[in-house]
Amino acid sequence: QDGGGDAESVAFYSQDMNLGMQARMRLETGLRHALAENQLLLHYQPKYALGSGRMIGAEALVRWRHPVHGMIPPAEFIPLAESTGLVVQVGEWVLEAACAQAQAWKQAGLPPIRIAVNVSAREFTSALPGRVAAMLERYGLEAAWLELEITESTLMHNIERVIGIMDRITALGVALSLDDFGTGYSSLSYLKRFPIDTLKIDRSFTTGIPSDASDCAIATTIISIAQQLHHKVIAEGVETAEQMAFLNSAGCDEVQGYLFSRPLAAEEFECVLRLNWNL
Ligand code: C2E
Ligand code: MG
Ligand code: MG
Ligand code: MG
Repeated sequence: QDGGGDAESVAFYSQDMNLGMQARMRLETGLRHALAENQLLLHYQPKYALGSGRMIGAEALVRWRHPVHGMIPPAEFIPLAESTGLVVQVGEWVLEAACAQAQAWKQAGLPPIRIAVNVSAREFTSALPGRVAAMLERYGLEAAWLELEITESTLMHNIERVIGIMDRITALGVALSLDDFGTGYSSLSYLKRFPIDTLKIDRSFTTGIPSDASDCAIATTIISIAQQLHHKVIAEGVETAEQMAFLNSAGCDEVQGYLFSRPLAAEEFECVLRLNWNL
């Protein structure tokens, strides 16, 4: 099975056991239902260039609008969906919904901003590049409208195969960013071989800036690695002006976080984008 190593299966098992078999099955049935009944939706969190202050993209973040339990955050259903494989269907829905939204924004005359879609390890198969190409085609989008965020866990299995898939995606012109960078196990010797556009500094490091010397050192180091390898670097989870100032002087290219905006419903996001671009 693609993307399913032994270590990973073990981790998923212990995680799921906390939930209990019954709760787990209820959640899975509910999520299948959510897909069929169109209960999932995307929110969009703006990403900004530190230099110009321009909004240069957005991260699409999935939510589940449950008829009884209300808005359920992804942390409460994505890990389970990853363990059952249902995340592949969720991912297909997310990719299509993001492309449909991008098409609407394009038709409304907005500038091409990259919509970043999170892709979990299970979805990162040889079928993915074809699916991405088909979505761009179906929604009449240039590749500049789309970006994929992958995590280090994607890179842990069969490196040559993963690089092959990455190459096919970047050949389409779709940028890849490495999410939650620094929290996984990706080896620096492989990092130079990945056709990555952007490194994303994990929120756990941003949070400690500027008071925690280690977090400052880690963030500075990630920025420096990105610069040396000619990647862009973005910090996620920026909540304070002090964090922004530190990242700016350390040479970070882009920022994303509550200081600028929370993830927004599509209509709200469009307003913020128009304001930012004076449209
Ligand atoms: P992530 O990809 O690292 O996304 C960033 C998370 O940090 C989002 O949480 C976002 O709302 C939150 N965040 C952004 N700025 C701040 C900030 O300044 N402060 C704080 N405290 N939080 C901030 P969210 O939307 O709950 O998503 C959590 C995770 O769920 C994501 O982490 C991602 O791993 C996963 N996820 C979300 N949508 C999808 C999806 O469509 N597919 C897959 N496979 N995973 C997804
Ligand atoms: Mg992400
Ligand atoms: Mg992230
Ligand atoms: Mg993160």
